[in-house]
Amino acid sequence: MADLTAFQNWLADASATLKEQSEHLTDLDRAIGDGDHGTNMARGFTACARLAEDEEFEGIDTYLKKVGMTLVSTVGGASGPLYGTFFLRLAGPLAATDDAGAAQVGQALRAGIEGIVARGKAEAGDKTMYDAFAPALEAFEGAAGSGSSLADRLQAAAEAGARGRDATEPLVARKGRASYLGERSAGHIDPGASSATILLESAARTLS
Ligand code: ADP
Ligand code: MG
Repeated sequence: MADLTAFQNWLADASATLKEQSEHLTDLDRAIGDGDHGTNMARGFTACARLAEDEEFEGIDTYLKKVGMTLVSTVGGASGPLYGTFFLRLAGPLAATDDAGAAQVGQALRAGIEGIVARGKAEAGDKTMYDAFAPALEAFEGAAGSGSSLADRLQAAAEAGARGRDATEPLVARKGRASYLGERSAGHIDPGASSATILLESAARTLS
């Protein structure tokens, strides 16, 4: 089960990890983009981690909505509106709960990832964050039948996300700035797939 404190711990952990990995993410983005992904993410998630210190939230959903709006206004680039939408949509299935179980977190994850697709129109293999999120969702939902815990399912999702991230390396980008490079985008891991994996790994550490 994951309560408001667990979700706030998720954002605190994600913020710390993104700050640590900021240079790595920026290096990845320098190879096939404009070299701002690490600073974009660190700036946005630092602002999110601060929310819990500055304000009392009534529920998981109001908190996640504020996180989404904060990301939209602070991350910038292509990824800001996409991650913002992800967190705004996560809130929906968690509206009536103050302690989310595995099924609800799964519904939230699905809603968030569908929001990214609705907004960015990425398909599997386009070399984007969706290439980490899609297999992660599949793994989370695939683990559901066996009656596994939220922690197990998040762990499975994080591992599948990491494999999806690594599998972006040979791909030619078909969305976002990296797509301007055409064939030259091949041979590099996608920065957004890397930051998405960081969020999933962080969720596995905190949301259970
Ligand atoms: P920008 O490309 O505007 O500089 P960032 O560097 O912050 O923005 O983010 C780049 C990442 O955004 C890419 O690595 C990719 O994963 C993701 N991205 C870009 N366009 C899309 C899209 N249409 N759908 C999903 N993800 C996308
Ligand atoms: Mg960039």
